Amino acid sequence: MDIHEYQAKEILRDNGIPVPPGRVTKDPNDAVNIAKDYGDTVVVKAQVHSGGRGKAGGVKLAGTSDEVFAAADQILGLTISGHTVKEVLITPAEDIDSEAYLGILIDRESQSPVVMVCSEGGVDIEEVAEKSPESIKKLIVDPRQGLLHHQAYGLAGALYNDPSLVKQATVIIKQLYQAFVTSGASMIEINPLISTPTGEVKAIDAKMSVDNSELFKYPSIEAYRDVASEPWAETMAREAGLSYVKLDGNVGCCVNGAGLAMATMDLVKYYGGEPANFLDIGGSSNPQKVVTALQIITSDPNVEVILFNIFGGITRCDDVAKGIIEALGQLEIEAPIIIRLTGTNEEEGLKILSAEGMSAFTSMDEVVEKAVSETSN
Ligand code: GDP
Ligand code: MN
Repeated sequence: MDIHEYQAKEILRDNGIPVPPGRVTKDPNDAVNIAKDYGDTVVVKAQVHSGGRGKAGGVKLAGTSDEVFAAADQILGLTISGHTVKEVLITPAEDIDSEAYLGILIDRESQSPVVMVCSEGGVDIEEVAEKSPESIKKLIVDPRQGLLHHQAYGLAGALYNDPSLVKQATVIIKQLYQAFVTSGASMIEINPLISTPTGEVKAIDAKMSVDNSELFKYPSIEAYRDVASEPWAETMAREAGLSYVKLDGNVGCCVNGAGLAMATMDLVKYYGGEPANFLDIGGSSNPQKVVTALQIITSDPNVEVILFNIFGGITRCDDVAKGIIEALGQLEIEAPIIIRLTGTNEEEGLKILSAEGMSAFTSMDEVVEKAVSETSN
């Protein structure tokens, strides 16, 4: 789950990191009032789950009330990488001497947090990463020991020469690591980390993602969830207790069990198809879950065929068959539904299907091959 900049900044502040104050609003008039508390110049910033806001016109400096109003008015309603801006953050403008990058994420290969720093931070960090990857310094942290002082000091030394800045950055890097491990984050980023003409180091932007599977441990972060900015299918799946991951293909998959779902996706690829999603309806077999699963799958306009791969254990084939028939009554499903149904109550399930003129495969290979053959590519 992604959270907004202003929310991530609250977490940084809680961990002692210097972050300028700020307040969010949905109203340009209110933005003008907030700005009055923050001195001569403020920054008006789009709050969306996307980076690159500056380049998309979502970050604007404003020096007068009229400018604040105009900036907020322009930014609210703007669409940035598919996300509509509903709120802006008003924060005092900082004088900037230098912009650095500081981030921590989980490195899958070493199965450890990796801290990354780059003295050339700011809006062009992607370009820096591409053209001169060596300018980004990375440190893999042993999670059992945590980030040690000398390691943080070494990273800070890659950012600044001035000893006072190095000292401040050392503390901030340690605080960011603390924020990372105590919030279930899978990614946390300060870009830019600035130094000011008066010699202070501060975070003026923050980005953070929290692992969905960790959220139950952190109710205060779960409360940051912005349902309105979440894809409809994800909200549906979460509320129905289905594991769903949208992918880019056209074969909609509905499977019971995560392992079988992975194997099904592999087989779809093997037969030359592309899965449209990972969807695990889980062990229980409530027909309503199947209806919800079909609603989710068919909400994806790329889906050309729907593949059911059910290996009944705790899941009962008759319940799945009932769910499919119920869904066909409730929803307008144009894509063909190709079904494999074996295991617990298989015969009852097949009877329910054949009463409606439908049939099912027993072989996984055959059903996947058939489903892929129904697609246009
Ligand atoms: P992003 O584009 O979504 O990453 O948004 P940022 O918050 O990082 O802002 C983009 C850029 O706007 C920064 O890299 C800065 O160059 C500039 N910027 C943001 N806040 C301030 C500020 O307070 N003062 C000044 N002078 N520039 C700012
Ligand atoms: Mn940024």
